[in-house]
Amino acid sequence: MAAQDMVQDKYVYDFAEGNKDLKDLLGGKGANLAEMTNLGLPVPPGFTITTEACKAYLATGAQPDGLAGQIEAHLESLERAMDKRLGDPQDPLLVSVRSGAKFSMPGMMETVLNVGLNDHSVVGLSAQAGGNDRFAWDSYRRLIQMFGKTVCDVPGDEFEHALDEAKRAKGTRDDLDLDADDLRGLVDAYKKIFLKHTGREFPQEPREQLDLAIRAVFESWNAERAVLYRRQERIPADLGTAVNVVAMVFGNLGPDSGTGVAFTRDPASGAQGIYGDYLANAQGEDVVAGIRNTVPLQDLERLDKSSYDELLGIMARLEGHYRDLCDIEFTIERGKLWMLQTRVGKRTAAAAFVIAGQLVDEGLIDLNEALHRVNGAQLAQLMFPRFQLDHEFQPVAKGIGASPGAASGKVVFTSARAVELAAEGESVILVRRETNPDDLNGMIAAKGILTSRGGKTSHAAVVARGMGKTCVSGADEIEVNVPAKRFTVAGQTVGEGDVVSIDGTTGKVYLGEVPVMPSEVVQYFEGSLDPEHIDNALVRAVHRIMTHADANRRLAVRTNADTGADAARARRFGAEGIGLCRTEHMFLGDRRELVERLILARAEGERDAALAALLPLQRADFEEIFREMDGLPVTVRLIDPPLHEFLPPLEQLAVDVAVAQERGEDVAKEEALLAAVRRMHEENPMLGLRGVRLGLVIPGLFAMQVRAIAEAAVACVRGGGTAKPEIMVPLVGAVQELETVRAEAEKIIAEVVGDSGVEVLIGTMIEVPRAALTAGQIAEAAQFFSFGTNDLTQMGWGFSRDDVEGAFFWRYLELGIFGISPFESIDRDGVGRLVRIATEEGRAARPGLKIGVCGEHGGDPDSVHFFHEVGLDYVSCSPFRVPVARLEAGRAAVQTDGSDSR
Ligand code: ADP
Ligand code: MG
Ligand code: MG
Repeated sequence: MAAQDMVQDKYVYDFAEGNKDLKDLLGGKGANLAEMTNLGLPVPPGFTITTEACKAYLATGAQPDGLAGQIEAHLESLERAMDKRLGDPQDPLLVSVRSGAKFSMPGMMETVLNVGLNDHSVVGLSAQAGGNDRFAWDSYRRLIQMFGKTVCDVPGDEFEHALDEAKRAKGTRDDLDLDADDLRGLVDAYKKIFLKHTGREFPQEPREQLDLAIRAVFESWNAERAVLYRRQERIPADLGTAVNVVAMVFGNLGPDSGTGVAFTRDPASGAQGIYGDYLANAQGEDVVAGIRNTVPLQDLERLDKSSYDELLGIMARLEGHYRDLCDIEFTIERGKLWMLQTRVGKRTAAAAFVIAGQLVDEGLIDLNEALHRVNGAQLAQLMFPRFQLDHEFQPVAKGIGASPGAASGKVVFTSARAVELAAEGESVILVRRETNPDDLNGMIAAKGILTSRGGKTSHAAVVARGMGKTCVSGADEIEVNVPAKRFTVAGQTVGEGDVVSIDGTTGKVYLGEVPVMPSEVVQYFEGSLDPEHIDNALVRAVHRIMTHADANRRLAVRTNADTGADAARARRFGAEGIGLCRTEHMFLGDRRELVERLILARAEGERDAALAALLPLQRADFEEIFREMDGLPVTVRLIDPPLHEFLPPLEQLAVDVAVAQERGEDVAKEEALLAAVRRMHEENPMLGLRGVRLGLVIPGLFAMQVRAIAEAAVACVRGGGTAKPEIMVPLVGAVQELETVRAEAEKIIAEVVGDSGVEVLIGTMIEVPRAALTAGQIAEAAQFFSFGTNDLTQMGWGFSRDDVEGAFFWRYLELGIFGISPFESIDRDGVGRLVRIATEEGRAARPGLKIGVCGEHGGDPDSVHFFHEVGLDYVSCSPFRVPVARLEAGRAAVQTDGSDSR
């Protein structure tokens, strides 16, 4: 080697030189091939070209200095190891060229197998295989097909078409019936296709084939689909991909050869056992491509006992080594087993919990690690009702599970029809090619949404998730014909009114109504399944992991609940108090009339009478909640929305009044109401007369609520309970607002509470950006803070939530302006910064200030981690999210050795 080579960057690693921790440099596939090699497993020899080489290539458009030489050197040592030369006409070495980035990524270049074959070496290959012409020509046609498609962008279906043609000419549907002559003919046809599309002959020079394939892998890093995928998944754009060059082994040499995939446990249920598929006399991707029917892996025991036993031994070793479920690709060449890939395998939510529990039992991981092997999104999935799928239900299509849940209903094709049928009490599924903002009403009315186009960030997906509505998007086997009011799938036609069922978790679509069964995990949380006494691996694993999370988390978890029933349910789910009790519902129903009187009151006396009538009703509401939450803190928010929300809408009222006047009826009261609605109309109600502003403008309103709270607490204590009320003032932006409310409230509380021993705290929401920025001042007057992150996000971004999600968020997500809606997961950089500032300055002014969060973010996994980091005392979320928040708070608090498998 020349002296200058010695100081060059190392761009190529032999498999024996790498290991599983070098994913950044060698990509996932390369790092794990190296790991298996070093474990002494039968991996065909090969080498990995690093992500650094890819980055250098992409930066300059040329291979970096020294790369060509290093590839040459590693190829030579590969040739020595195999005792063959690449493309040698007598006894050719063939290789596969495989991309492999740190994260597995759709849209990147796939694999090219059999590199090194040409018109001469195909003859040598046949001779070496004992005169197996069929095998040699089959391998050659595969090379031209894969090379053409992935390296030179020749449309893949042209090759497919030629293959179908050959089968038809032979009168068969099975590619195994094609003999050597048929395949030789196919190679000729493929070469013509290649020439037609590329303007050149298929390259015969093996080194040129190799180099072109390597470059194509590098370049595929910047393919449009890959770029888009990275943006959406927040994968950095500058990681680059590695390239693996691996000596070919052949599963297509005859019936004693084959190829397969295997899992060390069932990736669906987590059960221990042998899971996988095997296909005899086949190469590479035939298994997943579904070209022929595979057999269950168990059958391999009968076909080739010694390979089977060896494989099982290797699987057990890999599991012990990776301490996790592994998935595996292997090939058998004439009775000899070869390992071609392994990685920590993907799994369903249920399997994640079950496997984590099993691995603890087996002593492979501890409970801290188990906690990191699962996550809140998986737990949330397990809390949805599921379809009860017997064998009679086969999916007819599969799209993207865009918003979880299980929904059945009658098919409709327009938003208007969805609204109509829903109004008649029908469950409907809105089916569209894709949705747009005009479909919003139909989406609200539907039980579920099914589209044939669009991904996880399409309009349908984004809006459905925001509404918590089941959605399957991009089910492209479905052909939607809106004008004809039907869709076709798998040769069947489904018209308006026919019933379909969609699974928003798996993306599967079924014809007819699939029965739904309740979630066992919810039954466990509700206390109706005892984990110690039932034989249910999932429930036991959830119980065990939740117990560990609770024992370790620092954040308390409260709930948002407005009624005794919600409070009771949340308490069963583990809530440790109420973080947000909204009082607006206490102004609805038959109480509306009192609110109208309050608003229309001309004289003080009328207003006081209305408030006096509301007082006992509110007191009763609070008493019920305090009773359910006995002993736990309850944060009650004083009334927040603009009062005109409690009045009839302007248009309707105007019409009613006009009609009544026409009839000559007495409409004095309605006219007054109409005038009030006109007067109170706001262009921008979210920024108008609401929250603390109401309390300061309408005399006696907050005072009545404060009195109801204090009286309810006293009644609760007199009845032998313990009430811990915390009064929360909404929408404060300046300390003076809070001081004014507090002064009045304290007088009332002192008067009501007397010597009952009840203690009432007074604090504020931090939801206006100005409040966050003046938190130091506000803390002087507040006994606690609670971040209202919904409003803080609205006002921080200047987004009107009700408008933006349907109107343009899908576009923002598509462009990667944010990776997830800031209403779903807290925007750490902006809104999160406000939270940090307010926490630090609030606590500086009042050490030990109790701080929580009560927006929907309180139940979002990522946001919970953020609130833990910032040092909040608790998160509060909807009852159903309480277990998710408990789990994530535990995960945030517990450290592991870093082998988090998410
Ligand atoms: P993917 O990431 O899409 O699975 P792979 O690089 O793993 O792509 O390769 C695709 C298929 O080709 C797999 O079935 C793999 O096992 C097979 N394969 C890859 N390299 C070889 C090889 N050297 N010999 C035999 N089969 C191979
Ligand atoms: Mg693979
Ligand atoms: Mg708010």
